[in-house]
Amino acid sequence: MQATLGVDLGGTNLRAGLVDSSGELLAWGMAPLRHRRSPEQFVADMEVLYRSLLKEIEPPLTVTALGLAVPGPLDPVKGEINGAVNLPDWNNIPLVKLAEEALKLPTILVNDGSAFVLGEVTAGVLQGSSNALGLTLGTGVGGGLFLDGKLRTGATGNACEIGHLIVEPGGRLCLCGRRGCLEQYASASAVRRSAIALAEAGELPELLEQVEGNSTNLNTRLVSEAAQNGNSYCRELLAEAGRWLGRGVAQALTILDLDDVVIGGSMARAGELILAPARQSIRQTAFPPRPRLRLVQSKLGDRAAIIGAGSLKLHTDSRLINSD
Ligand SMILES: [Zn+2]
Repeated sequence: MQATLGVDLGGTNLRAGLVDSSGELLAWGMAPLRHRRSPEQFVADMEVLYRSLLKEIEPPLTVTALGLAVPGPLDPVKGEINGAVNLPDWNNIPLVKLAEEALKLPTILVNDGSAFVLGEVTAGVLQGSSNALGLTLGTGVGGGLFLDGKLRTGATGNACEIGHLIVEPGGRLCLCGRRGCLEQYASASAVRRSAIALAEAGELPELLEQVEGNSTNLNTRLVSEAAQNGNSYCRELLAEAGRWLGRGVAQALTILDLDDVVIGGSMARAGELILAPARQSIRQTAFPPRPRLRLVQSKLGDRAAIIGAGSLKLHTDSRLINSD
């Protein structure tokens, strides 16, 4: 049987999986990505994970390609990753060359947001959708666009950097150097920072107890759990992130006529606590109104970008995905 390897280079983890031609994930696994790990170390770890996944499958697979989902900006033609804000030391890194030398597989580079939305359209909650936007709310906010039945990555492979859409001019300073970017308000990191500030102001004593008084150990999972148990401060933190998310989506809708928007990343686990305020914000701010728009939570979670990256080969024979 033939399969492809899909790899997702996230902010904290490396995830890899073997994907068949229908988008089914045959085996997958992950390894921690230590802060500022070198590209060479990443490729070595990816190879170890790949070999261990191959051993899980009987009869042996023929693996035909590698799809590599990475944080942007990237150069898919040269196969380089260029200064992602969460991997600041990775400048002009020839990741495709390094991966092809190590794994001996033809490799396509794609933005992780694009891989996410392609995964959800191929095998997740948006199966069958033709016009969908995907947003991942994690360390940052990633975006991917599936329009008129195709993955769209634009002239240079960097379409849909929606995390750096400015939603609050003059607002919070972003790692990209500008102010007011969506990811400073709606990412898991942003919610975590707000929770830490609240805890240090003495407003979240029960949550602080759970992390033995060390506020830096707070995370969005704990915030979501507390919100689900009725903590009003945590509910408001998530609702606020949801309202900002809605503003960002409404801006995207002004340009893109979409049926569906899917939310992934660690913040998506908050479900309706973030989605309901986001829908309300979209209703209030989108023009023209989009009454039929669906805003939903990812079904595949951490596996979406792996499946999307692994499915790239079905969509293109070119490194620049649109040039078919
Ligand atoms: Zn930014």
